[in-house]
Amino acid sequence: MGVGRTLLLAASKSAFLNDQATKRAFVRRAVRKFMPGERAEDALDAAQAFAPENRGVIFTQLGEALTQLSEADAVRAHYMGLFDQIAARGLREAHVSVKPTQLGLDLDPAACAAHHDALAAKAAATGSFLWIDMEDSSYVDRTLALYTALKAKYPLTGLAMQAYLRRTPADLEALFAVKPVVRLVKGAYAEPPEVAFPEKRDTDQAYYDISVRMLEKAKTGECTAIFGTHDIGLVDRLVVKAKELGVADGQYQIHMLYGIRDAEQRKYARDGRHVKTLVSYGSSWYKWYMRRLAERPANVWFVVRSAFPA
Ligand SMILES: Cc1cc2nc3c(=O)[nH]c(=O)nc-3n(C[C@H](O)[C@H](O)[C@H](O)COP(=O)(O)OP(=O)(O)OC[C@H]3O[C@@H](n4cnc5c(N)ncnc54)[C@H](O)[C@@H]3O)c2cc1C
Repeated sequence: MGVGRTLLLAASKSAFLNDQATKRAFVRRAVRKFMPGERAEDALDAAQAFAPENRGVIFTQLGEALTQLSEADAVRAHYMGLFDQIAARGLREAHVSVKPTQLGLDLDPAACAAHHDALAAKAAATGSFLWIDMEDSSYVDRTLALYTALKAKYPLTGLAMQAYLRRTPADLEALFAVKPVVRLVKGAYAEPPEVAFPEKRDTDQAYYDISVRMLEKAKTGECTAIFGTHDIGLVDRLVVKAKELGVADGQYQIHMLYGIRDAEQRKYARDGRHVKTLVSYGSSWYKWYMRRLAERPANVWFVVRSAFPA
């Protein structure tokens, strides 16, 4: 792992830096590259602009570990309202993605599962879809169990899995039993080498290999494969591979984050691929933003430039 990435991921956990950064106007300006605004309405407005481009959207409210269960109730209530707003605006191909820790995974697993159930039911009732993010490796077992139970009841649910984890190929094989919808990502957290590949090239290779396995299963209807990456070379190779294997366009999708590789997102959509843009919003953006900087330390220069706007 590069020094820049290590430092940025360590900084993501600093309460002092969180407090400082969120008070600085120039940091807030830089963050706007990656999110249209802090309010759900900002995200919904941005999504409306994607519709004519044939791009779907996934909404997520930023925020992480909680200190009390009442906060999870508030997160659930927020997303229940968001599903209603998606329906009221007539947004199509508009999904929601949640983090289990935001819904109380650390505090009360049963309440957390009930919140996921309620949100999955609401997603189905409003013609939407519920995604579960994957957080750091200490949550993987619990998140897989949560998703396995949820998927049996609600088909319109999907799970993120991380290619950098050594365990993911085995986890995926076990998950095929529930015909999962899997968003494969490279992985955004600082993990020890015995848990995750320290070298980027190993993660990239694992990403390709796991994706091919997902495509094979997509062909037989045992998996829906989602490529959640901005690695254009990799996506292009996988699009070719999908064609080679005879996987229909609708059985795989490409998901990217708002503000990253935007021209390519539009191009894939123009070419008829199924593309979705994940739009984040909310005031708790500090940890999340530091992970975006860690993915590409060159973005730090973008923050510095934002200190001196033209
Ligand atoms: C839709 C979606 C959902 C995600 N959900 C999760 C999740 O649930 N759990 C999790 O651990 N991680 C999640 N991630 C983050 C993921 O794990 C990676 O950290 C992130 O996507 C960066 O890796 P990459 O695949 O884009 O590839 P990389 O090899 O890191 O990047 C490929 C290229 O993309 C561009 N790029 C990548 N990141 C940036 C950036 N921040 N700014 C500007 N350009 C950039 C660069 O040109 C780079 O060369 C998600 C990512 C996406 C797209």
